[in-house]
Amino acid sequence: MAAVFCFRNVIFGGACKFKSANFLLFRNLEQKQVRGCASYVGKQRSEYDYDLVVIGGGSGGLAAAKEAAANLGAKVAVLDYVTPTPIGTKWGLGGTCVNVGCIPKKLMHQAALLGEAIHDAKSYGWQVGDNVSHSWENLKDAVQAHIKSVNWVTRVELRDKKVEYINGLGTFKDQHTISVTTNKGDRLLTAKYVLIAVGGRPRYPDIPGAVEYGITSDDIFSLNRPPGKTVIVGAGYIGLECAGFLNGLGYDATVMIRSIPLRGFDQQMANIVVAEMQDKGIKFLHRCLPKSVEKLDSGRLKVTWTDSDKNEFNDEFDTVMFAIGRRALTKELHLENAGVEVAGDGEKIDAVDEQSNVPNIYAVGDVLYKKPELTPVAIHAGRLLARRLFGDSAVTMNYENVATTVFTPLEYGAVGISEETAVQRYGEDNVEIYHAYYKPTEFFIPQKNISHCYLKVVAKRDGDQKVLGMHYIGPQAGEVIQGFSAAIKCNLTVKDLMNTVGIHPTIAEEFTRINVTKRSGKDPNPASCCS
Ligand code: FAD
Ligand code: NDP
Repeated sequence: MAAVFCFRNVIFGGACKFKSANFLLFRNLEQKQVRGCASYVGKQRSEYDYDLVVIGGGSGGLAAAKEAAANLGAKVAVLDYVTPTPIGTKWGLGGTCVNVGCIPKKLMHQAALLGEAIHDAKSYGWQVGDNVSHSWENLKDAVQAHIKSVNWVTRVELRDKKVEYINGLGTFKDQHTISVTTNKGDRLLTAKYVLIAVGGRPRYPDIPGAVEYGITSDDIFSLNRPPGKTVIVGAGYIGLECAGFLNGLGYDATVMIRSIPLRGFDQQMANIVVAEMQDKGIKFLHRCLPKSVEKLDSGRLKVTWTDSDKNEFNDEFDTVMFAIGRRALTKELHLENAGVEVAGDGEKIDAVDEQSNVPNIYAVGDVLYKKPELTPVAIHAGRLLARRLFGDSAVTMNYENVATTVFTPLEYGAVGISEETAVQRYGEDNVEIYHAYYKPTEFFIPQKNISHCYLKVVAKRDGDQKVLGMHYIGPQAGEVIQGFSAAIKCNLTVKDLMNTVGIHPTIAEEFTRINVTKRSGKDPNPASCCS
């Protein structure tokens, strides 16, 4: 063990600039040493204030901290600090997902679905008056009250699990020293390992008025006034999800798309999602870019935009929301003081098994280069890392085949690869696409639009036809896709799917009934509800 310690000091002693092959060799050695010596951490504890300092108390950081401290006995501190948005929105401990991400989004999506359900209820015999109205303020208050309770429970949990929580902004002084700025002053913490889990924040476009008058997902869930007529710039997850629930709550919603919707997803599915949203009354400005936002004397916002032919348009809105992607919060960390390099995009950390180019500095979550920006990914990677650092585990994170759902009015759940990626990767002749339109039982009586209820299985063409991807548009997409993602992990084939007995009447059973391939040209529409 002494030899390991000497080696580590040699590595850490001078200016830490590892390069390419040499660096990878060192990094692998370091990783192996860490993995192989669970008790090392305890023995060396006195050298540093903490075994682990985590910068960022969000999904990934908290998961790693709790696992390391409560289950593996490490001495851990978590720093969390939220810089207010340009309009002054701020929030408590827990990171993006809890405060301004997954949770408030899902709650508002649910509010919108309930509005639809109230409408459907009439046809099922419920006596619902014609003047059903919705209060933004009540919804916003209920959502914020839930978030505050989660913030509180998170603090209590950290205390119970013996993780020290410091409400302060962390920056690197060197590779083992973190400077923390709190409202009580600055302090320095030393740590054997440092975990960067700072996540990201929404970007604003570089156009006049964007920052002054625009909002982002960081503001929408606590907005102190009803959003009114809203334009959302960006057609990724956030743009489409927010437009969906705003429309469902009764607000006029427009989405401005620069190129394609849901880049990276199966484009046939993405276009069906958009078509359904259009049918529900959401407007789309295709191939348009915002040019400016001006505040009018009326208080409304005049947005000017151009289309791909450079034609200029404008309209007035009550709210302008930008959902054009997120910036990793690395610039603020002074990574250069620790020698941590960022990837080609200048922001994210290109880690191997979450380890940065500096061997004692790790990263998880949205801050990682070319990894899915999803809460369960951050949590899983954080936990596995803690087990490798402080336990005797060697299990690394597998970022492949992570299931996800876009919570649009008709939800879109997917796992594995898209049709276009499969064709690109294996060639059209080696890929089989099974597809089906289906009729959810729940849609019959209210006579809801079924034309966009569609699913697709992307498979290899040979043998038992290994499933490469599953795509589903319809109600409860996350619930439908989650189980199939476990099946894909177990090497699901189309033969297995066809041999699975469904649960009737459900929508998930449609995946066990697929039998029409795109190649056959046969009609993928269902004959009847129970055929
Ligand atoms: P975060 O959760 O962002 O936590 C980072 C924390 O570090 C923050 O609290 C930040 O303020 C703090 N911090 C930053 N810099 C410092 C510093 N220098 N010092 C101290 N503290 C610092 N994912 C899903 O899986 N499902 C969803 O439905 C979903 N919906 C989403 C909806 C929206 C609107 C958004 C924005 C995101 C959504 N996501 C969803 C993504 C998910 O929220 C993120 O992937 C996840 O939160 C990333 O976790 P993280 O630990 O990397 O960072
Ligand atoms: P995305 O990267 O998904 O989408 C950004 C959108 O903004 C794209 O349509 C992009 O267009 C467009 N865009 C980018 N720059 C500009 C610009 N300058 N002007 C106009 N349009 C622009 O980012 P999001 O912010 O929607 O989401 C961030 C991440 O958060 C997601 O990747 C996801 O991992 C996570 N998330 C997960 C959710 C879930 O699990 N349900 C929900 C919400 C977020 P183009 O395609 O042309 O680049």
